[in-house]
Amino acid sequence: MKRSPIKRRVPLRQRRAKPRRGQPTASDKASLRRFVYDRAGGKCELRLKGCKGGVLPWDGDVFTRGHLVHLRARRRFGWRAETSCLGCYSCHIEQSHVKGVKLPATYAELPEWRLAHAA
Ligand SMILES: [Zn+2]
Repeated sequence: MKRSPIKRRVPLRQRRAKPRRGQPTASDKASLRRFVYDRAGGKCELRLKGCKGGVLPWDGDVFTRGHLVHLRARRRFGWRAETSCLGCYSCHIEQSHVKGVKLPATYAELPEWRLAHAA
C-alpha cells in the first residue's frame, strides 16, 4: 500500500521572539537564577525525602543541575528572589510538582518550613 506523507494542516507556531509585555527576558531569568544559585551556595534548599544534597552543578542535564524553584506561582507573583529558592530535581520535580508537597510561600519562611519537613 502506498502511503502518502502526513501533512500538517495547522502550521507549527513560531517561538515568540520577545517575551510578553511585563514578562522577564531570558537574561532577567538567568540573572535571577544566578542570584538564587549563589545565595544557596549551589545547594538544594528544600531537602525533601530522596534529596541527595551536596552542591548542584549550575548547568548540565535537568536531573542533575540546580533548579530555580518558584515557591509561588510566577504568573501571579513574578520572577522574584523572595519567592524563589534553589532545588534539586528530586525535591523540585518529584516531591513538589509530582507529589504535590507544599512549599513555603517565601524564601524567608524556608528555615521554619524545613524544621517541619526534615527528611
Ligand atoms: Zn533536594
